[in-house]
Amino acid sequence: FSYGFELENKCLTLSASIGISSYPNDGDRVFQLVSNADLAMYQAKKTGRNRVALYSNALAEDDRRLKEIEVRLKDVDADKEFTPYYMPIVDKEGKYKGFEVLLRWHSPHIGWVSPADFIPVAESCGVYEMIDMWVIEQTFKNYTFLQSLWPTPFTISINVSSAELNSDRFITQLEELSVRYAIPVGSFILEITETFAMEQSVDTIDWLDNIRQLGFKIAIDDFGTGYTSLMQMVDYPVDVIKFDKQLVERITQVKQQHLAKALINLCHIQGISVVAEGIETQSQSSSLKQANCDFQQGFLIAKPMPLCELQEWLNQHRLQAG
Ligand code: C2E
Ligand code: CA
Ligand code: CA
Repeated sequence: FSYGFELENKCLTLSASIGISSYPNDGDRVFQLVSNADLAMYQAKKTGRNRVALYSNALAEDDRRLKEIEVRLKDVDADKEFTPYYMPIVDKEGKYKGFEVLLRWHSPHIGWVSPADFIPVAESCGVYEMIDMWVIEQTFKNYTFLQSLWPTPFTISINVSSAELNSDRFITQLEELSVRYAIPVGSFILEITETFAMEQSVDTIDWLDNIRQLGFKIAIDDFGTGYTSLMQMVDYPVDVIKFDKQLVERITQVKQQHLAKALINLCHIQGISVVAEGIETQSQSSSLKQANCDFQQGFLIAKPMPLCELQEWLNQHRLQAG
């Protein structure tokens, strides 16, 4: 396959994703072996295509869990099983300037499931619209309460499934909810992941523009995990770029600090602010401050909390207001 195939004087390049199961360890019936090889083949595709994957019990267990997540998600009682958690974001002086809403799911059948596991399932089986709207509505509803806890201005960031991109219905519903709850739209930031936003076309730019015209801000999430260059990114109609944990780890190493400064500076020139995610150590935090990074978020500052815990936590940190 790597040499391509010649046909009528043309070279055709094809790639193959191969799954392997073997007798008798992976089954003693033909249909079982074929079905297990098929599962392994999907794994080969999922991990980048053009490769070989072997069937294993762990693979089968992951597949079983994903199917279970899908079944339970289609039947979820959102008000009972979902809880929005809030993760504080601080500015250069360490003052609390915003919160990111991160969803938590506790299913009575399968227990706690991480959003990193269930959001991709929701996107592939179509439940993402319900989830996104539930999170948005809850966040708008909770805004007045949060404001009573924290009187200084702050922003609220909400994650939007990549599958919503270019959806007109999303924009209509977003507008309806913002009017119904009379929220100050300018304080809300919608986060869209880098990889997805950049794959899209001119339509995406229009879609992002339409959301901004409603008054919402747009953040590009997980920058540094995909292959987009910052030069491409800063031309997008966005207000915030969030540097992913992996990128943050790289650019906070002593030898790379000049890179952090340059990247952040480029965003600033385009009027885009930068949030560094996944800050776990004091040295990362100081290095980013030196590089003039606008905001920081991570376990060093605070973990995501449900509203009731956040209330207590904010009371303890009131000194840092302003
Ligand atoms: P994300 O938007 O990149 O969110 C950041 C994730 O990194 C969160 O995981 C957060 O708890 C974790 N994190 C933050 N700081 C640190 C740190 O210092 N160290 C480490 N090790 N981890 C840190 P979480 O809550 O499990 O969310 C995972 C992903 O699921 C999110 O990644 C987001 O893409 C998605 N997600 C979460 N909530 C929602 C939601 O309401 N709607 C949609 N569509 N997606 C959501
Ligand atoms: Ca996010
Ligand atoms: Ca992120």
